[in-house]
This record gives sequence, C-alpha cells and structure tokens, in this order.
Amino acid sequence: MRENSNGVAARAAEVRNGQLAPDSMVAEALEALGAWEFGASPLNAFIALDQRAGRERGPRDGALAGIPVAVKDNLATADFPTTCGSRILQGFRSPYEATAVRRLRRAGAVVLGKTNMDEFGMGSSTENSAFGPTRNPWHPERVPGGSSGGSAAAVAAGIVPVAVGSDTGGSVRQPASFCGVVGIKPTYGRVSRYGLVAFASSLDQVGALGRTVRDAAALLEVVSGRDPRDATSVNRPVPPLAAACDRGVRGLVVGVPREYFPPRLDPVVRRLAERALSALEAAGAEVRDVSLPHTRYAIPAYYIIAPAEASSNLARYDGVRFGRRCGEADSTERLYELSRSEGFGTEVKRRILLGTYALSAGYYDAYYGRAQEARAVIAHDFERVFRDGVDVLFTPTSPTPAFRLGERIHDPYQMYLSDIFTVPANLAGVPALSVPIGLAEGLPVGGQLMAAHWREDTLLTAAAAIEAELGTVGPPPVPAAGRAI
Ligand code: GLN
Repeated sequence: MRENSNGVAARAAEVRNGQLAPDSMVAEALEALGAWEFGASPLNAFIALDQRAGRERGPRDGALAGIPVAVKDNLATADFPTTCGSRILQGFRSPYEATAVRRLRRAGAVVLGKTNMDEFGMGSSTENSAFGPTRNPWHPERVPGGSSGGSAAAVAAGIVPVAVGSDTGGSVRQPASFCGVVGIKPTYGRVSRYGLVAFASSLDQVGALGRTVRDAAALLEVVSGRDPRDATSVNRPVPPLAAACDRGVRGLVVGVPREYFPPRLDPVVRRLAERALSALEAAGAEVRDVSLPHTRYAIPAYYIIAPAEASSNLARYDGVRFGRRCGEADSTERLYELSRSEGFGTEVKRRILLGTYALSAGYYDAYYGRAQEARAVIAHDFERVFRDGVDVLFTPTSPTPAFRLGERIHDPYQMYLSDIFTVPANLAGVPALSVPIGLAEGLPVGGQLMAAHWREDTLLTAAAAIEAELGTVGPPPVPAAGRAI
C-alpha cells in the first residue's frame, strides 16, 4: 500500500528533520477553522480554542511533532476549561490533565482546542450541548452524530487531521460515520481514562478519529498503554498499529452478522455495505455469514446500564465541589436541588431518573440485574464467533446516514435506536472501528469493523484494505462566506 505523504506520521517526520516549520500545520488549521466557523453556517465544532496554540518555541520531537489535534471537552486539560458540554461545568478548569492529552503533548502534538459534544456524552447528535449544536460539514442542516460530534466535524472539515473522542455506546464511531472520517473505539482497558470525565465507567473508552485509517492509528498508538493512574488500563504490549495497516487481508475471515442487516435497513446503507464486503473479498478476504443472536437485547441493556452508572457518576455535581453553584438557596439541600436543576439539561436529567429508578431497591433485579444478564449473553455471542475462526466482523456503523437537526431530538426512543449497531461492542468490551464506505446522496456512510479483545491491529488491517479499495470520502467543500442555508 502507498504511504500517504500527507499523513500525520509523514508530516511529523518532516517537522523532526527540519523540512517543515513546527507551527506551519497549526497555522493551516487556524486558517481552515476561520473559513468554517466564521462563514454563513458555522460548524460550532469547538467550545474552546487557543488562537496562540503551538506558538511557544521549543524542541519539536515525537511521533506527532507539530500535528494540531482537537480534544473532546470531556477530557481534562490544564490550559482550557473542561465543561463536558454542560452548563453545570461552565468555566470549570481542571487542576490536572488527562493522561491521553499528556501523551499527545509528549508526542509533540499541539492541542488546538476543545470540541463540542452532547452533555456528558449523552446523545447521538451533539444537539444536547449547552453550547448549541454542531453542524455536519457535509450538510449544514444535518447533525454530525454524537456525542463526539465536534471532534468528527473538525476532522471532516479538514481543520485538524486527527482528534480525540470518547465512546461509551458509539460516540466515536457513529459521528465518524456521519462525517465521513475514521473512528476507533479501542478495547476496554487499552487507553487510560485518567482525566476522562466518567459517564458510564464499565463502558467508557477514549477513542481516536482521523481523516484516514493510518492517521487514526497513529493517534491511537500514542495514547495507548498502561497508566498507573487508571486501574482499569491494562498492561499489554501495544501492537505496531501503523504496520498493521500494510498487512493486507488475504486469508482474513470476515464475519457478516445477519442481525445487523435487518429488512428495514436503509437500502443505500445496505448497498454500500455490500460493496465494501465485495471490496474485501476482491482483496483476498473470506466473507462468511454469522449470527450474533442476542443483538436485540443490546439497546435495552445499554439504556439501563449506562443511565444506572451515570446516575451514580453524576451525583458529584452538587453545586459545591465543581462548577456552577446556584446562589439563591437557603439550605444545603436546596442548593443541591437548584444547582442540579439549573445546571443539567433535559437528556441528562432523563438519564439520572432512568438510572436511579433502575437501581432502586424494588426494581434492581428486574432491570439492572436483567440488563447485566443480557450483557453477558451479548459478550458470549462475540466470544463464540471469534473462537469459531472469524477474525473481524463487518456491519453498517449506523442504520442511516446523518439525520436532520431537530429530527429526533424530541423523540428519545428514536435517538436511542440510532445506536443499535454500536452499543454491542461497548457491552462486550471489544474494539470497533468505523471507516467511510461511500456517499449516499452527498452524505457519508460508515462501515463498522469489530474484532476480538486486543485485536485493534486486525481492525486496522481490514479498514486499510477497505480504504485502499474504495478511497476516502471528502473533504467537503468549504462553504463560501455568506452562503445561505
Ligand atoms: N449515543 C449513546 C448515548 O447516548 C452513546 C454515547 C456515547 O458513546 N458517549 O448514550
């Protein structure tokens, strides 16, 4: 396969050997950002921005030397506020930095800013942000997906080549799919979550977004690995991920789970998925039909487990210890009540109520207990297919291309159903990736790959083959200033 001379690895090498000025890519990024954000329909991809990013002098070394990156606003940074898209954390500054961010900086990357997101990661459209929705760079009236919609839009628009997101039930892969970029959710435990604001701790992972498979792999390689500050991070050697992109799929067994191709699947998504499978076959892979029979329990199980964990994790926002405090309360209890009522948005409140209910004494077994049983059988489905010789599973990432702004926001059930293909990987803890497989009437469509625990390398091998056969999509044209929407 051809090495991409515009890829982040190649450009960082140019910075290291002096061919490229260390701040030149940051300057390009700020220029692109200006064109997108100050036009007629601003993307609103960033919540915080450093206009002086990368200006500080100093040695530029490392795998990402001089590469501008965007970071989702639920990762703690010392030099920007960390708000999680929530009013309750407006202006909050973390006293420490997330390990993933520290590792990026140590590798020479320049953090350009913090990206917009659904409040605390709860959503699939980035409409649940206290800072207004992000637009899809491919169409100003479409959502970018969520919850890492700001990161995906910033990469798709060509502002940054790579960005960091987080994925609890699809929040890296689904926006990657909607925006036409690559998004990887690694194996649970692969990347430290120290400094990632917790949503649902048994599901959350930090993930990587990139314009190409190689770029996403380069970022993932930098942030991966054991961190003594996160007891859930695992001490396993990180396989050489860039090399995995070159391996080729000859002999690779690709499983196609029939439950992910229901009769009602959008016909264009189905056609593009079938084309991607033919491309894998043409490149030498063996494609096999398989079954993951408990897939239908994934959405109900996820929408019990994630809110249950969230209701506990979000108890800490009481108006006293972090962020926004309501000033009018005459008792401590009232202070908590008012701060939380004013600080949290509708979806976060809905999740806290759902989660608290599911964990309450009389209902715990019926809801939380059952959901955990469902989770176990879903994980077992994956174990079985991988044990039976499947190397990687291929599915659509989302049942549809990007939907319209406002289309699902008042119908939480429809919004939750957008996650039907992405939540199983989080429940099972396996790595999963979304790669562009084409355009449907001008909107990107993503294909999802899932592999056994710790086999990010296999995901990248298969994704690089799809990319080589089908090409990348985009970038979409920069809207002319003053363009009407
Ligand atoms: N859309 C899912 C939810 O709303 C997943 C979000 C995520 O992965 N952070 O919970």
